[in-house]
Amino acid sequence: MTTKPKQNLVHINDLRCKGCDFCVEFCPQHIIYQSLETNPKGYQVVRVTDMDQCTGCDNCARVCPEFAIWVETPDNKL
Ligand code: SF4
Ligand code: SF4
Repeated sequence: MTTKPKQNLVHINDLRCKGCDFCVEFCPQHIIYQSLETNPKGYQVVRVTDMDQCTGCDNCARVCPEFAIWVETPDNKL
């Protein structure tokens, strides 16, 4: 049995992220930011400030050219 999340969850694959900031620009809730953390390739990866504010709109996942970010909602299955 799989456990469904009670809230929207934004997942970031640090190894794929290239720090392009597309997700930052296209998040209508402005909850994604470029952090000071770098991945092994030297790119600054993104983080989410307040997951509770995420509407699950999926904009961030759709604009990411690296498929580095995806959104899990109580309604969808991964
Ligand atoms: S799903 Fe929408 S609201 Fe949530 S982090 Fe992505 S762009 Fe922002
Ligand atoms: S759009 Fe993708 S590659 Fe670009 S900063 Fe966001 S997660 Fe990283």
